[in-house]
Amino acid sequence: MKEKIVIAIDGPAGSGKSTVSKIIAKRLDLLYLDTGAMYRALTLKTMRLGIDLEDADRITKIARETNIKLTMDKGGEVSVFLDEENVSKEIRTPAVTKNVKYVACIPGVRRRMAEMQRGIAKKQNSVLEGRDIGTVVLPQAPFKFYLDAKEDVRSTRRFKELKGMGMDVKLDEIKNDIQSRDASDMNRELAPLKKAPDAIYIDTTNLSIEEVVEKIISLV
Ligand code: C5P
Repeated sequence: MKEKIVIAIDGPAGSGKSTVSKIIAKRLDLLYLDTGAMYRALTLKTMRLGIDLEDADRITKIARETNIKLTMDKGGEVSVFLDEENVSKEIRTPAVTKNVKYVACIPGVRRRMAEMQRGIAKKQNSVLEGRDIGTVVLPQAPFKFYLDAKEDVRSTRRFKELKGMGMDVKLDEIKNDIQSRDASDMNRELAPLKKAPDAIYIDTTNLSIEEVVEKIISLV
């Protein structure tokens, strides 16, 4: 079988991963996989079921029984389905955002997510974005990038994005959230957020979306 094209894009919240990955997927006709959305969807399910977020065994079991699917329409609009229900907006609420770190540090959950992500990348040409794609999920990916930007810039980007979705958010709260998520994503024992040694580092602080997209496409 012909090797699939895989682009792995990792980085902290607000580094531009999602926006850039979606555009690249559309331009190069690749499948786009937002792995953060998968962790968010599972977190939402856990919260709805009222399960203790530290109950690793139960959450692992749920992860194994849960069906998470992402679709992208012709206009580039991504939808996230949790057991067939469209939860695209609900997974972005501050409550889910705050709780996702508990679910994301459970070994059984990460194993299940990585399995699903590898399965997708094996079947289709794809761009996967997240925190551990280049380091753990697909360390052999031929194209790896690590996007980053100054914390203030990342907070402002996320603030505008959520406002644009009609959410009532405050910049200060977003800043605190990003700081706390970065700290837990970078310092957790399992699959921490870090640049793979062979990933290309791109500081997006002073770059437009188009400039980042061009840079990646030219390298690919
Ligand atoms: O990318 P996004 O900010 O939506 O991700 C939400 C959270 O999911 C991250 O803060 C991180 O805790 C977790 N995550 C992860 N591994 C990934 C993608 C996301 O642990 N590959």
